Amino acid sequence: KMPVPSDIEISKSCMPKPIEQVAKEVGLFPDEVELYGQTKAKVQLSVLKRLQNQPDGKYVVVTGITPTPLGEGKSTTTVGLVQALGAHLHQNVFACVRQPSQGPTFGIKGGAAGGGYCQVVPMEEFNLHLTGDIHAITAANNLVAAAIDARMFHEMTQSDQALYSRLVPSVNGVRKFSDIQIRRLQKLGINKTDPMALTKEEVNAFVRLDIDPGTITWQRVLDTNDRFLRKITIGQSATEKGFTRTAQFDITVSSEIMAVLALADGLDDMKKRFGRMVVASSKKGQPVTADDLGVTGALAVLMKDTVKPNLMQTLEGTPVFVHAGPFANIAHGNSSVLADKIALKLVGKDGFVVTEAGFGADIGMEKFFNIKCRYSGLRPHVVVLVATVRALKMHGGGPAVTAGVPLPKEYTEENLQLVAKGCSNLNKQIQNARMFGVPVVVAVNAFKTDTKAELALVVQYAKEAGAFDAVECTHWAEGGKGALALARAVQRASQAPNNFRFLYNVELPIVDKIRLIAQQVYGARDIELLPEAQEKVALYTKQGFGNLPICMAKTHLSLSHDPEQKGAPTGFVLPIRDIRASVGAGFLYPLVGTMSTMPGLPTRPCFYDIDLDPVSGEVNGLF
Ligand code: ADP
Repeated sequence: KMPVPSDIEISKSCMPKPIEQVAKEVGLFPDEVELYGQTKAKVQLSVLKRLQNQPDGKYVVVTGITPTPLGEGKSTTTVGLVQALGAHLHQNVFACVRQPSQGPTFGIKGGAAGGGYCQVVPMEEFNLHLTGDIHAITAANNLVAAAIDARMFHEMTQSDQALYSRLVPSVNGVRKFSDIQIRRLQKLGINKTDPMALTKEEVNAFVRLDIDPGTITWQRVLDTNDRFLRKITIGQSATEKGFTRTAQFDITVSSEIMAVLALADGLDDMKKRFGRMVVASSKKGQPVTADDLGVTGALAVLMKDTVKPNLMQTLEGTPVFVHAGPFANIAHGNSSVLADKIALKLVGKDGFVVTEAGFGADIGMEKFFNIKCRYSGLRPHVVVLVATVRALKMHGGGPAVTAGVPLPKEYTEENLQLVAKGCSNLNKQIQNARMFGVPVVVAVNAFKTDTKAELALVVQYAKEAGAFDAVECTHWAEGGKGALALARAVQRASQAPNNFRFLYNVELPIVDKIRLIAQQVYGARDIELLPEAQEKVALYTKQGFGNLPICMAKTHLSLSHDPEQKGAPTGFVLPIRDIRASVGAGFLYPLVGTMSTMPGLPTRPCFYDIDLDPVSGEVNGLF
């Protein structure tokens, strides 16, 4: 058998259809499609209105067991499954995936277009700028950051009157409030529309956001793994008159702007969520919002095109939406609600939409259900849980798996004991999916070093653990036809009884919700709130944000907070270091242990292998 060529070689060897043709095949009208070159297009939201009476297709979410740092093939399986359903079984299908961050693409993990004969193509377009959505998010996020520091500076250096005459300038002798200023006045309980009618106290309240610098939770972002930006000092130029402060950069995909894009229901909803985003507290303890900064409209303008899902295709010509890309460990880890909604209408009643939730079922899937489905109102029919022999061996006590280092022999030779022992993780993740009342199909993603006996062991174990079905898949090496058994199992599971439920009621106190997730999904004995987290519980409860769902920021490398604890650990106490609020996106995010919101680069990052052929213009070395 010929070895499977590299991802980018396979991607380049295929001749994608013109994206216009893909759009036509899925039933989009030409005026609903905005072309970005030959292979990418944005789809207008008006299609949702046109198809509002069309019944939705079947909704399938792909998740996985706790992965090795290399990834266990969720994206690959998402693509393999739609290729099998669409190109081989001739069903209407759509895959909905996240846009990858440049952090991992140039860092450790590489791109996220899938792999082998299951990819979104062209993979270099997919993995790099796409249609610029992530760049727009960086721009929008940093506009808010600039607004915060500039506003504090102006408030510190100017009198109330000076601030007022600049915030509400006289134009041709007339002073007028803008819409956003009227919203701020209403929030302050001042029902006046004539700028000349405000009392001194009202002017003071209006012009001073009075941000307490110690409470700022809004950070600058960049989509590069740049560890030296984890803690910085800003304002060091003499022009800032000594108003320096410690700040930080996060990776763009962890920005609340990204989460809003992923959860918004349309332009209007996106704008409302932007307006509600809380960036800090005032010295009196009131939340300060993007609306208070006057920046909401500008954010909507910067983000107006990003709201349209990006249409691409798989290697076998089936349609894909690539839209939004929050990480699953430090954000909610799911592609956009809008892409899923449009895809469900486009495939129609008998079709399938396969969407991917990041990392293991304990994080990406839990957030898919408790956050994404809660906001979208959509209900999944099937969970596909991806497992690999290599990750199970690691959970069974195999040596550490490190990116860029050849796998130790435990992983390349048959070892049934390690696999059997590691199945504790598979079992726990199956139970996690079943907890939500949705049938689970386990997809065992076969690698060329896996033996027949190892693969059979995993399949049998999964069935005994309560999976609806479990199948071996060879789509990475064979394309869609290697996932035919999976596709048929998914078809059957989509007809099975479904008792979907959320894990918690949002009205529960914050601490109860966190404890429920920790105990039921992770297997913790209890949680421990460190002082900062305790303060935030009190603050957010007082500010009225206690009823938001929870988005745990936890390592993806273990069910617990400790990446070294493999398998299915129990009896541990989960440390909650701090809690942040993404009020616009609509969740509270507890930081579990030491989670960094800005990854770093390894000694030999992926970028060493990435190159451009100056003659042909071709990109090489992406994977
Ligand atoms: P995830 O989405 O779970 O993070 P990916 O689908 O991105 O994982 O796969 C991770 C990496 O492993 C990719 O480089 C992919 O090409 C590779 N891969 C996936 N499945 C296989 C397989 N069966 N054999 C060899 N390599 C694989």
